[in-house]
Amino acid sequence: MDGAPYPAYRDLLGAFALRETVLEILRVQPDPFAGPSRLRLLVPYGSTALPPETGALAGGTGARVAGLTDTLTARAVALRDAVQRRVAAFLEGADTGLTIEVPGQEVLDRSAVWFRREALEIRLECSLPARGRRILGRNAARLLLTGPERLVEACLAPGALDLEALENQADGVEDFAFLQEELPRRGWVAFVAEGSNLARRAGNDDRPLLDEAVLFRSPPELRREVRLPHGGLVSGMAIEDGVTLLCGGGFHGKSTLLRSLIAGLYPHVPGDGRERVAVRRDAQTVRAEDGRAVTHIDLRPFLHDLPLGRPVGDFTTENASGSTSQAASILEAMAGGSRLLLLDEDTSATNFMIRDALMERLIEAGREPITPYLHRARTLHEELGVSSVLVIGGSGEYFRAADRVLVLDSYVPHDRTAEARGIVAERPPLRPEPAAADLFRQALETSRELPRGGASGRAEGERGVRIKALAPRRLLVGDVSLELDGQESLRETAQSRFLARVLSWRSRELPREPASTLSGTGPGAGGGTIGFWRTRFEEEWRRDALDGFDREVRGDLAAVRFLDILAAIHRLRSPRDGGTKQRGRSD
Ligand code: ADP
Ligand code: MG
Repeated sequence: MDGAPYPAYRDLLGAFALRETVLEILRVQPDPFAGPSRLRLLVPYGSTALPPETGALAGGTGARVAGLTDTLTARAVALRDAVQRRVAAFLEGADTGLTIEVPGQEVLDRSAVWFRREALEIRLECSLPARGRRILGRNAARLLLTGPERLVEACLAPGALDLEALENQADGVEDFAFLQEELPRRGWVAFVAEGSNLARRAGNDDRPLLDEAVLFRSPPELRREVRLPHGGLVSGMAIEDGVTLLCGGGFHGKSTLLRSLIAGLYPHVPGDGRERVAVRRDAQTVRAEDGRAVTHIDLRPFLHDLPLGRPVGDFTTENASGSTSQAASILEAMAGGSRLLLLDEDTSATNFMIRDALMERLIEAGREPITPYLHRARTLHEELGVSSVLVIGGSGEYFRAADRVLVLDSYVPHDRTAEARGIVAERPPLRPEPAAADLFRQALETSRELPRGGASGRAEGERGVRIKALAPRRLLVGDVSLELDGQESLRETAQSRFLARVLSWRSRELPREPASTLSGTGPGAGGGTIGFWRTRFEEEWRRDALDGFDREVRGDLAAVRFLDILAAIHRLRSPRDGGTKQRGRSD
């Protein structure tokens, strides 16, 4: 092929035997500047340090539940992740021209490494070499023939693969899965082990802070013990169901602790510092996202009487305010099954969190449509089983709603619940309100209907709109950006790629759905119920896990929870105005 025009590379599509290893070229880029070519290696276990039983491990081709770790499949998921890291480390240093998706700090169900029955599958990418628009045949031969051979020799062969390191990661992940499954059984929402290192190097660097890090010490009142399958007896801070406040002065580590909790959805690599931090699997971060789209959400639990008589019980906008966005996000998360909300004052709308007595004197009761979260937290917990962990440094009013008040002092939490109770002793404590609980129940009923959304709306034509991942929390739907800043459970672009794949799948499936699943309450809704899509999603996941939802075979994906997919669907902009114009309502 040397010197032939670039498109001749297409003849390489298909499988080739390189001694025991099979090389399969899955995608050939159309030109040298297009997205990378994709290939996979099938390496028989006999050529690797992995025992042949590896091919029979549960979870070798995907976790049981999308985006979540469970004790059944944790081991295989962890081992696959560890092999991927090993290959990534080798390819970064070796000049082979091959690349593999590089994982972050979380151990995730990823699509680059699969344990097939007979062989280990590794998915790689490369840019096929060219001079101008002509094929550089000798370079291509080196890339495709020598590259895989070196990779197997250096990373996987007996003697090259450090099985002990692999097993170590797998043990840690199994311990994590056990810990996470233990939380609801014990009535805890989260656990942070003694000695955890929560501090990160920088806002854009999720690796552990090393020298100045203050290791976690639990307050004695909240200290509990768990016996892990591999790690033995571990003690740490258990946050129980209810309303928990993280208070303390600025820069004392409140937000860092809260962020570690949501990171605790997933296991972490050994040495990360958060290996034994776990949070309930249905945890949801909620923040103000002014400007987001909201489609047919009943906001009455938090709002009444919007200006100009706009309907609160069926609220739709292309441009939510900070407080309405936060109210909508909470109802959507609850409708999706979340029973733990994490809120940080740093990223919340002040008027959604609190309104003080002086402000009440200026804005008469009738003119302020918002009931702050302060007055709903008890109802959520006692009537609806939804716990909250709140970072609150600015308002002691929250003491009236709290089950526990922790104060962070130089990164160390102290239990100051009794003292905080004393401070608000003369004030009436906040109690759950049955009327508000009813509003929540009604709102959850109406919020089961999903919007068709921008992508899906347009897909009703002949062809689906293109959905692309740009960053962990940012997608492109057609030419409209979809921001998911509040979704801190999305850690890597590999995850948002899978999210984009699922959204594209849904947009193709939508027009085929039977009308009976669509209530058609108005433009933008009529996209089927949460329950309907949950079932469809789980069926597809059980069939092919990360390889489902599309025929394209990719190595750069990582799983997300159904809850995260819901969050994206809820934020789709309505098809009619494409989301670029700012309009009050989509109708
Ligand atoms: P707060 O939310 O209370 O204002 P942050 O959580 O933002 O505080 O933390 C303030 C700074 O301290 C950040 O730069 C953070 O990385 C750092 N930090 C947080 N926890 C620790 C810790 N345990 N050890 C060392 N530094 C920490
Ligand atoms: Mg903060």
